[in-house]
Amino acid sequence: MDFGLTQEQEMIVETTRSFVENELYPHEAEVERTGHLDIDLVREIQKKAIAAGLYAANIPEEFGGAGLDTPTWLLYEKELGRANYALHWTCVARPSNILCAGTPEQRARYLEPCVAGEKWDCLAMTEPGAGSDLRGMKASAKQDGSDWVLNGTKHFISHADIADFTIAFMATGEEETPRGKKKLITAFFVDKGTPGYAVRDGYRNVSHRGYTNAVLEFDNCRVPAENILGEVHKGFEVANTWLGATRLQVGATCLGRADRAFRHSVEWAATREQFGQPIGKFQGVSFKLADMAMEMKAAELMILEAGWKFDRGEASDADMAMAKLKATEMLAMVADEAIQIHGGMGLMDELPLERIWRDARIERIWEGTSEIQRHIISRALLRPFGA
Ligand SMILES: Cc1cc2nc3c(=O)[nH]c(=O)nc-3n(C[C@H](O)[C@H](O)[C@H](O)COP(=O)(O)OP(=O)(O)OC[C@H]3O[C@@H](n4cnc5c(N)ncnc54)[C@H](O)[C@@H]3O)c2cc1C
Repeated sequence: MDFGLTQEQEMIVETTRSFVENELYPHEAEVERTGHLDIDLVREIQKKAIAAGLYAANIPEEFGGAGLDTPTWLLYEKELGRANYALHWTCVARPSNILCAGTPEQRARYLEPCVAGEKWDCLAMTEPGAGSDLRGMKASAKQDGSDWVLNGTKHFISHADIADFTIAFMATGEEETPRGKKKLITAFFVDKGTPGYAVRDGYRNVSHRGYTNAVLEFDNCRVPAENILGEVHKGFEVANTWLGATRLQVGATCLGRADRAFRHSVEWAATREQFGQPIGKFQGVSFKLADMAMEMKAAELMILEAGWKFDRGEASDADMAMAKLKATEMLAMVADEAIQIHGGMGLMDELPLERIWRDARIERIWEGTSEIQRHIISRALLRPFGA
């Protein structure tokens, strides 16, 4: 077993970190202050990210991406995760891997422009009445000749305001199963501007300033059958095949933010003096650092191991759930302790800590809440016993 980074991985980590520090950090304070990301700034940074080979690096080489293996991609995500989310997601976008599942025509229309930085995508599953229980969705699509007619509401949809299209998951029927009726779901490409498709302002939220979520309304929105991604009634199958590693992506970005908070904390503990000595000399402070370092290391090993197994086709749902759960809960702990170590200064926006603490909160909710991850892990333990 080799835990070392290859030369190529070291180079990718170094290049990404230096891009993040030089191109993203300088704009963080303004985005945090205004809650707004200027489109001219986005275009300027996007050009540099494309030139540096960092844009859409998650996408396979055959489709124009960098074709990184999963552990290397996660190391890159860790570095991007250090910065304000709106800045790194918008300016150094990683289009959803699910776009690779499209037909050649769909890839030319949706994936390739996303990789080239000409379009942005978004993914719409959640509804006001269907969050963790996505099969409970009410938004539906009905076939009408060779078209499909979409109706219903989605909410919390990230980046939908800037996205040129959405991949909308709609109920398209029901099937009988031994456990009762189950909804059948189909995924549709819906272009911005399609009649009957409206993007409304979403909610203001505590995490990730400069980033937005939106409410999507579908009112007799008609799309042709060629807009179906994957097969009719197989929307969740295509999502499960292509979105499997998204939970690791969330976890990897948490590693970067935790490391940033931790570095500030060590430096502060070593230099801030109270009672005539650096506060790091007090066990009340130094033991916090030890626990933070240990939790960060455990989370990183779990994320990279799950990524390694993913590439070998051996990652179970429980592996992915454990890695996401550990990394997101680790970040919550590290961000909180970093503020405690800094005392009052930790809450001031001179430092990135209050931002990292606010931003940490969403990570235990999206891409499956912590409770849903524990449910997945515990089911894998108990199912073999029929429990
Ligand atoms: C800022 C933001 C951006 C988002 N972006 C997107 C997006 O781009 N696209 C998209 O489709 N969705 C998006 N989401 C939705 C996100 O994935 C959901 O919020 C998440 O899945 C939880 O659903 P919910 O908020 O409806 O909570 P609920 O499902 O109502 O859960 C409420 C509570 O009940 C618990 N709970 C529910 N079921 C169980 C169970 N079986 N066992 C134990 N506890 C349970 C949950 O863990 C939680 O604590 C986003 C959400 C947010 C907040």
